[in-house]
Amino acid sequence: MPELPEVEIVRQQLLQVLPGKEIVACHVLTPRIVRQPEVAAFEKRIVGSRFGEIWRRGKYLLFQLGKWELVTHLRMEGRFGLFDARAPLDGYTHLLFTLNGGSQLRYRDVRKFGTMDLLEAGQAASAPFLAGLGPDALDLSYEDFATRFQRPRQVKALLLDQHVLAGVGNIYADEALWRARVHPSCPADRLSEPERRSLYEGLQETLHEAIACGGSTVRSFVDMLGHAGQFQLHCHVYGRQGEPCERCKTPIVKAKIAGRGTSFCPQCQRLRTSVKIAGPYEGRLSP
Ligand SMILES: [Zn+2]
Repeated sequence: MPELPEVEIVRQQLLQVLPGKEIVACHVLTPRIVRQPEVAAFEKRIVGSRFGEIWRRGKYLLFQLGKWELVTHLRMEGRFGLFDARAPLDGYTHLLFTLNGGSQLRYRDVRKFGTMDLLEAGQAASAPFLAGLGPDALDLSYEDFATRFQRPRQVKALLLDQHVLAGVGNIYADEALWRARVHPSCPADRLSEPERRSLYEGLQETLHEAIACGGSTVRSFVDMLGHAGQFQLHCHVYGRQGEPCERCKTPIVKAKIAGRGTSFCPQCQRLRTSVKIAGPYEGRLSP
């Protein structure tokens, strides 16, 4: 699934081609992608709008379109591409935005899990599906992060919880924890202040490095130009179970933590014995 870095790359690429372009026609080929308003109203309202700013909130993309805001979530496989309007369509194309000048923004999605919501400008922030989101992980001060990471919940679970902070998925959570030398099961309220700061910095470094690498391509992500991301080749723990840790040479292990496959170094990321974890991993993770 595209996470924050991949969505940010798509945003940056769309920003290079869309602002100032006017939508002269809109065709929804797969109605289920459009959540609101009804398809006929969606197609009608959006025509005549001109693309302005493009924002990102977690894994959501928000397009400023005159008096409207288009909010999209790419889910598993959604992609935008800019085509010549006369180019042949493939079976995975679900929305067409014909632009002035003869180009066409197409939304393609093999799995059809992506969503589009067309809202009145200024309404997006209070839309129920966005209002519950935590602050964007890249747009978060250390003070805010530290306040949110004071709860008696596993740090890995908090990192993945989109209500706590938005945009972080499995790869980036594991990489940030390794950088910070924090065990993924450690309750956040038991982190020392230096550990909490290391985790914040590890997360920021991980996300910035992933964006610089063009994101991660684990299953299918490609950017608008069809380029796969390279960050998966730079991971320290994700996808490296059994390989030696780059710091201490201990083999990386993988366990199910916070409901997700979690890779970490059992030596550098030790669970302090004073931290008691209930559940099936008690004892096993603290050699
Ligand atoms: Zn290690």
